[in-house]
Amino acid sequence: MIENLGNKDRKFYKVVGQVQNYDWGGKSFIPNLVSEKIEENRTYAEYWLGAHLKAPSKVITEKGSVSLDQFLNENPIENLGADVEKNFGKLPYLFKVLDVDKMLSIQVHPSIAAAKIGYKKENEQGIPLTASNRNFKDENHKPEIMVALTDFWLLHGFLEQEKLVKNLKETLELSFLLTTFLEDGYLGLYKKVMEYSQEEVNTILRPLVKRILPKFKNNELEKSSPAYWAAKSLNNSDSEDIDKGIFSIYFFNILNLSRGEAIFQDAGVPHAYLEGVNMELMANSDNVLRAGLTSKHIDVVELIKNTKFEETIPSILNGVENKSNGEVVFKTIAKDFELSKIELKEGITHTSHSNSVEILMALNGAATLLQNDESISIEKGQAILIKPNTSYKVETNSEVEIYKASVPK
Ligand SMILES: [Zn+2]
Repeated sequence: MIENLGNKDRKFYKVVGQVQNYDWGGKSFIPNLVSEKIEENRTYAEYWLGAHLKAPSKVITEKGSVSLDQFLNENPIENLGADVEKNFGKLPYLFKVLDVDKMLSIQVHPSIAAAKIGYKKENEQGIPLTASNRNFKDENHKPEIMVALTDFWLLHGFLEQEKLVKNLKETLELSFLLTTFLEDGYLGLYKKVMEYSQEEVNTILRPLVKRILPKFKNNELEKSSPAYWAAKSLNNSDSEDIDKGIFSIYFFNILNLSRGEAIFQDAGVPHAYLEGVNMELMANSDNVLRAGLTSKHIDVVELIKNTKFEETIPSILNGVENKSNGEVVFKTIAKDFELSKIELKEGITHTSHSNSVEILMALNGAATLLQNDESISIEKGQAILIKPNTSYKVETNSEVEIYKASVPK
């Protein structure tokens, strides 16, 4: 038990996140952002702000630093907000900065209903939570929204039928799949390639590799073409075997988001981050079903059960702007979280009221948060937790770009 975490009237707390050094990460964006010393040969993939037990953030209190989950548990109604406490019982979101250098695995996240069933089943089968073949790490869904902080590339859902047909027709080595797609649809096509043995994958894709890899090395491929990303992943791999995720690159939308554009990915939409830096807000879950571009476990049966086999027409979000207070809200159907951006110049004051616990992170510039007689500064790379039911102001005497995680009413 931690007694007396601080003055009851205090509403603002500094929060310090944790860096994840996954091997797909970049070298400098995250350490430059959070003022961490850059070590040679180290990659900096993600910066986590949240209460996830794998890497909980620290809250700086008068009594020293406390893990965020502990801080919230200590007085959940007061620290999370009554509605969040009732509906979720804990911080429902996880806030991240991602710096993607090498492409990430293709993945799908389950719905809540599927996660509950899968989690129970794997527990009954006695598969440890940390086992490499464990699919369901918790009972939660994991919808995600991301906003691009640089030019950003990703795979997002199946192509419309016409475009997928065009890709298959134009890619000599894959054109034999056209009949399957026309006769058996998205599910038939996907099931067929995902069920190939490694030997079959190698035999089918070897001619494709031979054709596109030299073009990639000569800079002859466009980033908007599946061949570019297929070749990039092949170029990064030192395995003799060809990853079956290469097929998916030809089946999915390849999206290029400009800085400030956002996209939402709900349960069942296959996706993969390819390149760039983003700010991501997701439900607090670790449930990932992988589908390729990975050396990790792929459970084809579960993957197919949890994937929506339909075209996705990408909906790029520019957010809804409130000009008077500098806030842009990226609305989604997720009940677990809401992402917004607060961009201010000197002379514009942002006023707000927190209904639930909020986390603000500054990407650039500096500002001061004020409520009653309390104030706290925030600058590039820093994060502040705001307690629920707080009316506050944000002011800057230069300029500031802040991202905010909250729970919609
Ligand atoms: Zn994901």
